[in-house]
Amino acid sequence: KRRFPNEPEYHQAVSEVLGTIEEAYNEHPEFEKSNLIERLCIPDRIFSFRVTWTDDKGQIQVNMGYRIQHNNAIGPYKGGIRFHASVNQSILKFLAFEQTFKNSLTTLPMGGGKGGSDFSPRGKSNAEIMRFCQAFILELWRHIGPDTDVPAGDIGVGGREVAYMYGMYKKLARENTGTFTGKGIEFGGSLIRPEATGYGNVYFLLQMLKTKGIDIKGKVVAVSGSGNVAQYTVEKLISLGAKVVTMSDSDGYIYDPDGIDRAKLDYIMELKNLYRGRIREYAEQYGCKYVAGARPWGEKCDIAMPSATQNELNGEEAKTLLANGCFAVSEGANMPSTPEAIDAFLEAKILYAPGKAANAGGVSVSGLEMTQNAQKLSWSSEEVDQKLQSIMESIHTQCVKYGKQNDGYVNYVKGANVAGFMKVAKAMMAQGIL
Ligand code: NDP
Repeated sequence: KRRFPNEPEYHQAVSEVLGTIEEAYNEHPEFEKSNLIERLCIPDRIFSFRVTWTDDKGQIQVNMGYRIQHNNAIGPYKGGIRFHASVNQSILKFLAFEQTFKNSLTTLPMGGGKGGSDFSPRGKSNAEIMRFCQAFILELWRHIGPDTDVPAGDIGVGGREVAYMYGMYKKLARENTGTFTGKGIEFGGSLIRPEATGYGNVYFLLQMLKTKGIDIKGKVVAVSGSGNVAQYTVEKLISLGAKVVTMSDSDGYIYDPDGIDRAKLDYIMELKNLYRGRIREYAEQYGCKYVAGARPWGEKCDIAMPSATQNELNGEEAKTLLANGCFAVSEGANMPSTPEAIDAFLEAKILYAPGKAANAGGVSVSGLEMTQNAQKLSWSSEEVDQKLQSIMESIHTQCVKYGKQNDGYVNYVKGANVAGFMKVAKAMMAQGIL
């Protein structure tokens, strides 16, 4: 905190991990001797740069751009790009730090990184989005590559933005090696990548429910967000017979007591992906409740799946969820629960999966996209989906191995942190003092 003041999200992520790995760390005195914690917590390097672009009115606009290359002990830096007005160095450092452990859990050889800009895509025309993406890559391209650093999407960066960035990258780097993941199917993208984070989160939830012999069918689920992760979480939940009653965006949430069915989800996908509309319009279309400026955690549910952004579920909201009978929380977003909310879930001993385990399906299929690009071939949806399911199962197994307490309760936070940490730590030790 002394060295990096004014970075609260980064401090939050680091203390959450350090608070759970002490026991495992103390079993290895060689870690302490090599000052492993500082070497692991401070990113390898950070690029920050000015992005200059021209809006539709001919005005010159300036934004900040960043890339955090956090750790490459087990593979090339890998992590998404976020475009959102709230982006700053602290948020990207927390995301890159988390990504390092998440990628370690996936069983694939990927290091951790993250990048982005305080550019807000909200209300921008397609041409403005393209010009911004091109200007962003004009600076970033020299720092990335198929074996050094492979970016992907995140908040505000979907298939359209990845395609614009990849197009510009390819032109500058004069190569066609698939340096981005989340690309279109026609130019090296992987089937199931758009679905992967949401589907993977549901697969992880199924693994947790299995330990208690609980069936997902008929369970009432509250989901937040209505972007990529939320949409495919809801799609998989519907196909398994669960009843999803909420979705949200940064303006508010909808509550549909009849449940969001396939046709209603199609409406949301069109609304959000094609028209870039607001979730409020769903309430107008289907005549259900819309609450402006609020989050959905006050609604009664069996399972909560926060899938919007960091710190979107606080201690009070966690208590309300528990009082309403919620028995499982599986995080699609990164760090959506505040430390107070996490404490409440662990104290109540409910099934609680932190994002770095539950949402690792996205980066896992990104890893599979890298493999397909390297081999210059594409796998079928069934093959990728099968691999995704077995990766999520393996992440669950690792969490149970390192997180099971004497009383039988599985602390998935500890399990994910220790499993993710040990692999990176051993790789760093083996590679010497760098
Ligand atoms: P999208 O941009 O597709 O969707 C984000 C959703 O969250 C939108 O509904 C957005 O609403 C809402 N949102 C964004 N910021 C805020 C905010 N400050 N307050 C309230 N709502 C907000 O992003 P993704 O679905 O890709 O990402 C969602 C989360 O999942 C993020 O935490 C991301 O890091 C994480 N994640 C994503 C992965 C991926 O593969 N895409 C992989 C692993 C994790 P609005 O439209 O109003 O902005």
